[in-house]
Amino acid sequence: MQQKIPTVIISGAGLGGLTFYHALIKNKDKKEFNVKIFERESGPQDRWQGYHIGINNKGARSLINCIPSSVALDLPKAMPNPIPDVEYHGFSLTDHTGNLLLRPPSKQVKDVYEVAKVSTGFSAIITYRDRLRDILLENVPLQWGKKCIGYEETEEGVWVFFEDGSKEFCDILVGADGIHSPVRKQKMPELQIFYYGITQVLADVAVPKSILNRLIKFTGKGTFQETIGLNGDTTFVIFRLIPIKEQEQNEPRYRVTLAFGYPTKLDNDEQNPVKVDDNDPASVIEHVKRMIRKLRSECELTDIMLELWDLVPKTTPDPKEYPFKTYNPVQRRQLQDVNPLAVDVWTSSRVTLLGDAAHAMSPILGLGANDAILDADKLSQALLNYSPENYISCIKEYENEMLKRTSADVLKSRSIALRQSSPVGYFGSIFRNAIMKTVNFLMNFFDTNLFLRD
Ligand SMILES: Cc1cc2nc3c(=O)[nH]c(=O)nc-3n(C[C@H](O)[C@H](O)[C@H](O)COP(=O)(O)OP(=O)(O)OC[C@H]3O[C@@H](n4cnc5c(N)ncnc54)[C@H](O)[C@@H]3O)c2cc1C
Repeated sequence: MQQKIPTVIISGAGLGGLTFYHALIKNKDKKEFNVKIFERESGPQDRWQGYHIGINNKGARSLINCIPSSVALDLPKAMPNPIPDVEYHGFSLTDHTGNLLLRPPSKQVKDVYEVAKVSTGFSAIITYRDRLRDILLENVPLQWGKKCIGYEETEEGVWVFFEDGSKEFCDILVGADGIHSPVRKQKMPELQIFYYGITQVLADVAVPKSILNRLIKFTGKGTFQETIGLNGDTTFVIFRLIPIKEQEQNEPRYRVTLAFGYPTKLDNDEQNPVKVDDNDPASVIEHVKRMIRKLRSECELTDIMLELWDLVPKTTPDPKEYPFKTYNPVQRRQLQDVNPLAVDVWTSSRVTLLGDAAHAMSPILGLGANDAILDADKLSQALLNYSPENYISCIKEYENEMLKRTSADVLKSRSIALRQSSPVGYFGSIFRNAIMKTVNFLMNFFDTNLFLRD
């Protein structure tokens, strides 16, 4: 007798959920599933999906494994090939004056296929996250406006419930619904979000070439740059040196992701209460600039940071005028993560998780999306052995590997973020900088990235 085709429901169409969708369809000849994917957003333009992320060699390898060639052909739209001698795709860290502390080795490559081939060491391409999502959405019969609010697991399968009152039945439910995943909250209610005590403000900005050139003169042409101050304050500047396509624009502009982070307790000073209106971008930008002036010494790098934050739109821009697809309202946000191994027991069942839903992490090491894509690859491989009798062992095989790999990444990212947010003061910074420079020398001498070793 012919077996019925099992149904897999994916809740959440971010990078992880969409990659998983493609992987199941791509493997159809080996194991066929009826795949349904649901997303709470009302459509592809609903919400800001911007900022730049680094897709590394492991993420690139899994991405290429999972997507069909028709989607792979479009990858250069999201991750244009690196520009030799102009861009350096890798991470660099300087102090608040632009003094280089760390630049771990990163293999420079010509395209995403070469990144994927790097098997020892580290390589990455800075990628437009929103465009990667757009590419992954191509030809996916996504059901928009379907916010999952819970599920009920039975012997026969899983009922998935949506906010609009509808429900769907499946054999396997995959919660790929991000850090606030309702699927995780129901499956693992004891797995709590960890708050770092760090506030972060994020923005995507169109930056004139002259300002970026000044930054690069100081900190180099690394496309993922961080600076650390003396007071637990950090900045991120992530960019590609590819001008935005614009009409009647005299000076080329580049798309840049900015982030500024500082200890949250600085906002809770009872003596000097901070007045910020998170619903008013102008108020948040003023606050960021005030904090930069307060926490950083006067120097050229501080001036550049202030100028960069001045470029962030102070009111919600007209989408037709704005150079990016959607706009992110600048707000103070709390840095948080989820360590999947913070709970003792993870019982495998018909309901599983992937991506940020299982293991949201600090962006400091650039691992979150890469891990989500790796999850999609590993889970789709595990499900090749699916049968009505052994589905639990497929899910268990996936979860055993996923939990170990991603918990280590969450904790590594957490420990670095917390260390960087501890104030060191002037003398402490001399000691800190000396250690970092020594580590940098060793990493480059032995051609190894100590932060991202397995
Ligand atoms: C500034 C910054 C820089 C970063 N840099 C990097 C980097 O360099 N490299 C890297 O690998 N990662 C990076 N990350 C992390 C990365 O962006 C995330 O880890 C990644 O996007 C997670 O993908 P996901 O699909 O698991 O979750 P998400 O992208 O959050 O997608 C979840 C989807 O589920 C939907 N959803 C939510 N709730 C529901 C519901 N109830 N029902 C239905 N749908 C729902 C959401 O609308 C969303 O579309 C960075 C993050 C930040 C903030």
